[in-house]
Amino acid sequence: MNLEHIDISGKPPIEEIEKQYYYMAILKKWVEKKSKELGRPLTCCTVTFGCQMNARDSEKIVGIFEKIGYQMVEDEHADFVIFNTCTVRENANLKVYGRLGYLKKLKEQNPHMMIALCGCMMQEDAVVEKIRQSYRFVDIIFGTHNIFKLAELIHTRLESKSMIIDIWKDAVEIVEDLPSERKYSFKAGVNIMFGCNNFCTYCIVPYVRGRERSRNPKDIIREIEALTADGVVEIMLLGQNVNSYGKNLEVPMTFAQLLEEIEKVDGLERIRFMTPHPKDLSDELIEVMSKSKKICNHLHLPVQSGSSRILKMMNRHYTKEQYLELVDKIKEKVPNISLTTDIIVGFPGETEEDFLETMDVVKKVRYDSAYTFIYSKRTGTPAAQMEEQVGEDVIKNRFDRLLKEIQSISAELVGRDAGTIQKVLVEEVNSQNHALMTGRLSNNILVHFEGNKDLIGRIAEVKLTECKGFYYMGKLVEGSDSTI
Ligand code: SAM
Ligand code: SF4
Repeated sequence: MNLEHIDISGKPPIEEIEKQYYYMAILKKWVEKKSKELGRPLTCCTVTFGCQMNARDSEKIVGIFEKIGYQMVEDEHADFVIFNTCTVRENANLKVYGRLGYLKKLKEQNPHMMIALCGCMMQEDAVVEKIRQSYRFVDIIFGTHNIFKLAELIHTRLESKSMIIDIWKDAVEIVEDLPSERKYSFKAGVNIMFGCNNFCTYCIVPYVRGRERSRNPKDIIREIEALTADGVVEIMLLGQNVNSYGKNLEVPMTFAQLLEEIEKVDGLERIRFMTPHPKDLSDELIEVMSKSKKICNHLHLPVQSGSSRILKMMNRHYTKEQYLELVDKIKEKVPNISLTTDIIVGFPGETEEDFLETMDVVKKVRYDSAYTFIYSKRTGTPAAQMEEQVGEDVIKNRFDRLLKEIQSISAELVGRDAGTIQKVLVEEVNSQNHALMTGRLSNNILVHFEGNKDLIGRIAEVKLTECKGFYYMGKLVEGSDSTI
């Protein structure tokens, strides 16, 4: 939408999306005026903590800032700094408080500076109270459900001159068609749903991201078509539990059915998704994955623990045996699939026997890689009330043993495609050696090879000449320098 054509002389429109564009148009004029006064462009820096959901939310935030005329910069010496926060583990919160201290000093040097905080951490009452009391230099606080209101909030802040706090307990509507700025020209994240209904007992996400809400399939397809028309060849479908996509739609639709629709989009080469929950991973989805030409040969399937006893305490709704059966089924139907996972070490009450069950799953499944987390107590979650919290030394010892096992299996697995020719999505010039290009295989493993930067954003055929631990060196196959 072109902001120049919006009438800002009257009252704001009722329709939410039109209202937000109205505020963007007002702010654009304000930014122009301010830039003229200062004799330089106004700059903005967004800092993103946490997961892919937050990364995608930050693209929407950047989209709004660019639309109103800010110049995006990497450095926090900017006129507007916005922290998109995470609260999944406690150290994520601590990082934010630490960096806020630094921002205070920057704001003392730049009277034009504004600071906004958003994201999951801001959905916690105790956090907002602490910021209100101890970090009074913060200008705007908003949460996960009202990012679309950013322009309106900045406008309110400029009018009121005091800290603006706008946190919603749950989402009211999914606002489509906001501006958004992609980090990469050739790949993009696409939200298919928001929130989570699973309430794993250690996890704060359902409390800070609200209940599950699926986007309308038509809106998703329309977004993907627009992305491919703009040069995107790979998409990552995002949701906290993508398998429960579509349950709350007026006309229910399964995730597998959505994938089949997305597969039909012309120009789209690769489909990834994150995160499926093992309890809901259907035979229908495995079937669709096995037939698809576009779904990548990679599944991130968080196990969290290998002990059925702990899984029950975690409220995960599957046992060790069910998880292993599921993995066998997937491996049988989708040969050569690369599996990755999330594992938590030191959940309350985890004994050595429980931990050995986790090690057993790791050995049996043989993951390509895994994100391993030390359990972090999150206030408000049921696990935080569980009495037998595990000692730090015990956790550290288990964590190190787990990591060693994962790394040794991973080193054996990664080289399995050496000597073969594979399709690689070329992503960037190698940061260490500019003669090399860097890209990713369908299973997400990195490949470096000699090539030229016109290949960026294209899928090329590359012979994997040598495996170097966690990545390959390769050689471009002659004549493959165009999208296949
Ligand atoms: N919805 C996804 C799922 O169920 O796998 C992932 C959401 S969560 C942001 C990402 C990972 O963080 C989880 O898979 C879990 O391993 C980890 N995690 C969540 N809460 C945690 C906690 N309290 N302590 C340690 N790790 C945690
Ligand atoms: Fe958290 Fe469980 Fe929901 Fe994932 S599925 S976001 S781990 S509650």
